[in-house]
Amino acid sequence: MGKADLGRSFRQGHGPAVYPLHINRKLKIKVLAGGARLEDYASPLFIAWQLTNVCDCRCLHCLEESGPKAAFPGELNRREIFKILKEIAMARVPYVAFGGGEPLSHPLFFDICEYLSGCGINLKIETNGHCLSAAAARRLAKLSVKAVQVSLDGPCPATHQALRPGADFNKALSAFDHLARYGVRSEAVFVPTRLNIDEIKGAIELAARHKAAAFITGPMMRLGRAACAWNELAPTKKQLAVFKKTIAEQKALYEGGMEIIDYPWNIIQELKFRFRHPQALLLIVPNGLAKLINAMPFACGDLRQDSLISVWEKAKTAWKHPQVARFVKRAVTDHALLAAVNKPVLLHTAVQTVGRLPLPPDPGTSPGAGFYRQFLFRPARQ
Ligand code: SF4
Repeated sequence: MGKADLGRSFRQGHGPAVYPLHINRKLKIKVLAGGARLEDYASPLFIAWQLTNVCDCRCLHCLEESGPKAAFPGELNRREIFKILKEIAMARVPYVAFGGGEPLSHPLFFDICEYLSGCGINLKIETNGHCLSAAAARRLAKLSVKAVQVSLDGPCPATHQALRPGADFNKALSAFDHLARYGVRSEAVFVPTRLNIDEIKGAIELAARHKAAAFITGPMMRLGRAACAWNELAPTKKQLAVFKKTIAEQKALYEGGMEIIDYPWNIIQELKFRFRHPQALLLIVPNGLAKLINAMPFACGDLRQDSLISVWEKAKTAWKHPQVARFVKRAVTDHALLAAVNKPVLLHTAVQTVGRLPLPPDPGTSPGAGFYRQFLFRPARQ
């Protein structure tokens, strides 16, 4: 295929380039045979971009560990952001999604969306809904926004706000209403935890009443704060069994109306599968490093300095890096590794000497970037 934008077509094969959940059906993307390997693509098909790690919430299950004072040191400035935007446009990347921290709280959020939309790039936004006023929804309606995902973790303020300290349940509901009023597709996102899983039915009903086009759920991702609080937050087996049954019933009930999507994989399944079949995506974190996937700390390039295309070429090699293989193998049993994936470290793909795998951190502690540097190759002595 070679070019990401060639006929806006994705090729199908073992290891889809992008999970269908990430593709809005309205895009009418043509699926062809083949194209399963990253090497088939001259540029990414999808960019997930965390504009900032700042958020007015501090959700117990936040996989990014975002919060009011959680800005990355050295988040990208306007000039650096627009350098990357121009490269995304030049590379004809078809799809960009903005996620947490809270993207709408970023001072350049609309400038960024308007630039990409003007270049014909499809957008998706993940938000807690707090900044989604009527004026914001009206502005988004003029852009190529394919969906806005709003977090809805319960059918009432008590449940939603218990899980999401700092959240405002009523503002989240208003966000759905404003989006509906201006004809922007909204999707409710529900993360099942021990605290809210029993209220899934009420949350689905509420999302439908507020005209969400889809209700999306799936296993809580065992990353960041969710990983640290796993023992308190993970649903019990009994809760999960009831949850699955309720989802099946609600899918049947809403057939032809609000779409109900239950993402099938937990983060370990995702990591193992993506290791064998990487997606054609890059994850840009607030300081401009480009990660391979959110479930690993490894970044393949720095978009402040490197071009998008050169980082994309590094990504293809990085997935084959022995340290990536070691990390995936180890994370399957050592879940403490997943608690600290939010401190990205550059994976230097050109260096050839393999270091020893370090001992795991104490469970529940955040080992930080220093720990992960030990995973990296050390330069061979000249
Ligand atoms: S609203 Fe989203 S980004 Fe903000 S703390 Fe909660 S989960 Fe994290």
